[in-house]
Amino acid sequence: MGASGLATGWWAELADLVLPRACVGCSAPREALCPACVERICPGGLVLDVHAAGGPPDLPICAAGWYDGPLRSAVLAYKERGRRELVRVLAGLLAGALAGVILRAHDELIDAPHAALALIPAPSTAAARRARGGNHVTALAASIGISGGSVAPVLTLTRAVQDSAGLGARDRARNLDHAMRASRPRASDQPCVLIDDVVTSGATAGEAHRALTAAGWHVAGVAVLAATPLGGRAAAIHSQ
Ligand SMILES: [Zn+2]
Repeated sequence: MGASGLATGWWAELADLVLPRACVGCSAPREALCPACVERICPGGLVLDVHAAGGPPDLPICAAGWYDGPLRSAVLAYKERGRRELVRVLAGLLAGALAGVILRAHDELIDAPHAALALIPAPSTAAARRARGGNHVTALAASIGISGGSVAPVLTLTRAVQDSAGLGARDRARNLDHAMRASRPRASDQPCVLIDDVVTSGATAGEAHRALTAAGWHVAGVAVLAATPLGGRAAAIHSQ
């Protein structure tokens, strides 16, 4: 077992119990992600309006911040090192991105019954779920807790896909092409927002949009925690 295996196993859980908490961004004591680091991630509560080249055209994609600094540290600690106590602060950041999407899609959502809005987590591979004890994006979506909304894990992968780390935009799109399937919504054209941790090329958003639309969902946008520079340009918009 390598060092990363140790870090995600019983040792990490034991360390969480006996070692003092420290911010994953700046090592300040007591908080998993301190308010100063949250302010560095999304100054003034602004979220990023992402234009991912490989994503569906004209679909709003909002991110809480850039995938670097304290946000990158927090995402990796939550996802790969089992720092489950980060779920609440990360869900709060994701809620800001979701608010940005709802703001952008306001005109098409205004007539939809609020209770019908579904948050749909991006699917993960069986290997990732085994390593992380489930789909970490589903846990994040469930922690957002929008009133009247629901988490609908309806997307699944229908074939083996590569880990996209290290792939360029074109290979990411090829890797995910027709790789997802979605269950049908309760009612045709039920609005939904895709939830994911990081947007890079937009390939996941593009394939999820295709599968969800084919199943009868109305995809209003994509809310993610973080955007990488491969996601293209981004501009700040007010989230609240
Ligand atoms: Zn900090």
